[in-house]
Amino acid sequence: MEFRTGLGSAWLDLLATLIGRYQREQTDLLADPAALRAWLAEHDLAPAGRITAADVDRVREVREALHAVAVATIAGRRPKSDDARVVAAALALDRPPTLRAGAAGLRAEHPASARVALARLVRSAVDTLTGPDRGHLRTCGDDTCSGIFLDLGGRRRWCSAQRCGVRVRVRAHRARAHAQDGDGGTA
Ligand SMILES: [Zn+2]
Repeated sequence: MEFRTGLGSAWLDLLATLIGRYQREQTDLLADPAALRAWLAEHDLAPAGRITAADVDRVREVREALHAVAVATIAGRRPKSDDARVVAAALALDRPPTLRAGAAGLRAEHPASARVALARLVRSAVDTLTGPDRGHLRTCGDDTCSGIFLDLGGRRRWCSAQRCGVRVRVRAHRARAHAQDGDGGTA
């Protein structure tokens, strides 16, 4: 399974694990405990304890609340209080990790559980959403894509240039070709 990375932060990658959020058909990459473990491991957050189906449900619930809060924040709107409550409850489980000096730099202990791993992601999200970087958060330039990314350079338009950028260009090209057909060949 291939997960999205490179949106600027692990919590933004988490939001991208629901494919087609704005479409009728969706694919959830966090389908079961094994998938959630693989995703967390990819982001250096594999928990020491086991992951249950209830953990997966909780991560998905918090992910969707976080997405809604982020979209509202980017748009300069008030987030729904239900969503803010879900995010706050997840954040309440956050504890600073024990640190140690490793051979290759500073190491943080692995989270004890999936809920604690989720809390770390939520803390990172809240830091961005309430701090100076929130002005660099962008929604994808493709309106049909729910992707959110951090644009520190101020030039990025798509969560994925290969996927969303190309898709929008193909759509625009088709629309132009269609309009020319409609002109009765005068072009
Ligand atoms: Zn996109």
